[in-house]
Amino acid sequence: MEQQKQTGQQRSALKQRIKRQALRLGANIVGFASVDRWPQQGEVAEAYWPQSIWPWSRTVIVLGVQIYLPMIETTPSVVYSECYNTTNRLLDDTAYRLANKLNQWGYRAHWFPRDCYGDISVLVKKPEAAFSHVFAGKYAGLGTLGLNHTLITPEYGPRVRLVSVITDADVPADAMQEKDLCIQCKRCVFNCPTHAFTPRNDRLIADMAKARCAGYHQKLKTEFRYPCGVCIAVCPVGADRKRYGMHSVTADGAAHCRDFGSANAVEGRGVPEEAQKIIDTAIR
Ligand code: SF4
Ligand code: SF4
Repeated sequence: MEQQKQTGQQRSALKQRIKRQALRLGANIVGFASVDRWPQQGEVAEAYWPQSIWPWSRTVIVLGVQIYLPMIETTPSVVYSECYNTTNRLLDDTAYRLANKLNQWGYRAHWFPRDCYGDISVLVKKPEAAFSHVFAGKYAGLGTLGLNHTLITPEYGPRVRLVSVITDADVPADAMQEKDLCIQCKRCVFNCPTHAFTPRNDRLIADMAKARCAGYHQKLKTEFRYPCGVCIAVCPVGADRKRYGMHSVTADGAAHCRDFGSANAVEGRGVPEEAQKIIDTAIR
């Protein structure tokens, strides 16, 4: 829409209105990024910028929904699978409704779906997303990138799922976090069941064998206890960690959750040949 020039006060009031609406709809955290941040930061290829796809975009509103720490600490389990699936539904639902509200208020808006891949088997061959909500979250001031390629937030560490609403509403962007929140403890590296991370000396973010991680996910999917998430379950950062301590579940309790409802509890579930090949050749 052609927007009339708004005063700073009007832009701030609109931002607060959008934020209240997003929180009411179910988001736990909300941040605002100007699309200018993509070219300014120079980290994301131009084809992946929101304005490269929708040239009228002005603001990306990033919404985060928490992953409950006591549930992810049982992974791989149906308990965590259900948590993951529910966050996904809530994210898309919240983003859809917020974009709808913006439309009703007269702005262009839609959302970039949280994952955007048809099946995990696709990611095994091409482990790339069409849009990075992690970078969007960083540019919206919600957190910083961690060694494990996730967005580390003050509230939930990396235990937050993200989605982005793209709009032409012109609102003030949030300040980006200045200090890295990842403390480089490498718990994510040491606990990854596929040894997917290779830390580097020249930068904080590790090299990641993404296809190996995706292959393992494919195996877990056939067992009905997808996804893995160990690298975010073990991260010590986040207010949620302070709330629950380093272990919110006992070892026996986690084993109990793993032993019910998934193929771990019954025998005879096959793993797709391609996934098994990757797992066999890649796990050290
Ligand atoms: S587990 Fe440690 S190294 Fe890994 S992302 Fe969290 S703080 Fe960073
Ligand atoms: S999700 Fe699991 S397999 Fe993938 S990188 Fe994290 S810990 Fe490793």
